Amino acid sequence: MEEKILRKLFLGFIQIHILHHAKEHPIFGAWMVEELREHGYNISSGTLYPILHNMESDGLLVKEEKNVEGKIRKYYTTTEKGNAVLDEARNKAYELFKEIKD
Ligand SMILES: [Zn+2]
Repeated sequence: MEEKILRKLFLGFIQIHILHHAKEHPIFGAWMVEELREHGYNISSGTLYPILHNMESDGLLVKEEKNVEGKIRKYYTTTEKGNAVLDEARNKAYELFKEIKD
């Protein structure tokens, strides 16, 4: 399938993935890139960072800057709205999974 079509489709999966982890603990870009890679998503930080920024603008994530060994690192955690969106997305994903798994 065409790369562009797949990328558009996976964008939603990636955002759900981000919400899932950012709810569990604060995440930062490089960690998330690695996590997604382990799940088979080959995404660069140049692609991921704008996604994180957009999700922050949409009020799904909140950013906190921490000084880690002299470097400022941006950590993201879900907001109430982000958690609500995650719940809704989880239900929808589960419903879809049941439908298409076979
Ligand atoms: Zn994961």
